[in-house]
Amino acid sequence: MAIEFQGVTKKYPDGTVAVDDLSLTVEDGTITVFVGPSGCGKTTSLRMINRMVEPTSGTVLLDGKDIRETDPPTLRRGIGYVIQHAGLFPHRTVLSNVATVPLLSGWDKARARKRAAELLETVGLPAELGKRYPAQLSGGQQQRVGVARALAADSPVLLMDEPFSAVDPVVREGLQDELLRLQSQLGKTIVFVTHDIDEAVRLGDKVAVLRVGGRLAQYGTPSDVLRH
Ligand code: ADP
Ligand code: ADP
Repeated sequence: MAIEFQGVTKKYPDGTVAVDDLSLTVEDGTITVFVGPSGCGKTTSLRMINRMVEPTSGTVLLDGKDIRETDPPTLRRGIGYVIQHAGLFPHRTVLSNVATVPLLSGWDKARARKRAAELLETVGLPAELGKRYPAQLSGGQQQRVGVARALAADSPVLLMDEPFSAVDPVVREGLQDELLRLQSQLGKTIVFVTHDIDEAVRLGDKVAVLRVGGRLAQYGTPSDVLRH
């Protein structure tokens, strides 16, 4: 599902312009990375796709349709979301964290748990870790659970906000490889936010470079962006 920003601006009530007249298209089935320094509007841009943040002006289209025509809960059912510290429920086991998603969409418990176990395997986690609580996993393992949970929604769109930033560089490379491998199988439309240009170039089919003030400085393939 393509995502289109048409002249999108977000000005917060205190006057901060976080995103300034952003226009670009995230093509269907690709990974687009939003990169730039802290405060350049990456998270705000991402959250305007699932209506966690509403633009001040401009339009966001999903699959050609203005997202304002879809109420936020319905919209979010089609959009997975992964954040930096995985955002796991601390008082539920790893398996239950993932199984919650299919349960919420009406699957019975046995089927939801089976699906969750498959997803843990998909992201490279040993089955026995399913019984642990999130705090008993390493940072890298928690991020894998976060990715498994986002995949559980089976949604065509995945939003990832600095999902690998809290883990050490070696683990991060493993997670990046895993994401690229998953993407080659699943073909989702992924918007990935990072402040790390190396990560952006490694993962992106397209890279959008933002600068502080929320303006798009560059948009193109990784080699286009590196050339400038
Ligand atoms: P990034 O993800 O690139 O770090 P953000 O989108 O989080 O950038 O923030 C962009 C700008 O908007 C920053 O100046 C930030 O301080 C400001 N900002 C973010 N959220 C809010 C908010 N809720 N209210 C006011 N200003 C905000
Ligand atoms: P990583 O390099 O992936 O961040 P860590 O060094 O944090 O790994 O953890 C190494 C191993 O120790 C992992 O297999 C993890 O599951 C296990 N581990 C980490 N913290 C805990 C904990 N609090 N309880 C049980 N096992 C843990």
